[in-house]
Amino acid sequence: MKTILIIEDNPKHLRLAATLLGKSGYAVLEATDAEAGLPLARLRIPDLILMDLQLPGMDGLKATGRLKEDPATRGIPVIAVTSYMPEHPQTEILAVGCAAVIAKPYHYKEFLDIIGALLARRDAGNQPGEST
Ligand code: MN
Repeated sequence: MKTILIIEDNPKHLRLAATLLGKSGYAVLEATDAEAGLPLARLRIPDLILMDLQLPGMDGLKATGRLKEDPATRGIPVIAVTSYMPEHPQTEILAVGCAAVIAKPYHYKEFLDIIGALLARRDAGNQPGEST
């Protein structure tokens, strides 16, 4: 079973994502801020991380940068999720190492398709930027 860590401070968005992923057969880990999510990522090494960009404390871009600096977590694909696309241009989001961006509110099929595609690519062993 694949494990996905959701780092999201909005309880409604967190529940929705966790429910969708759980029903799709993924194991779900949850954190409501980066300060809790980063240590959890290091401890559990999830197969994928959904990272809200607007978080209290450390924001999602900075948190992704931290994950990509750490050899233990560098290889975990991070999908940025945001309700405010114009606030962070997509180029900026991808530049910190996010593999994809998903806009909220979620369109369920697109949401699950993007996640499934990233996990399949990772299984195929050609994830860009993965350390050995
Ligand atoms: Mn948020």
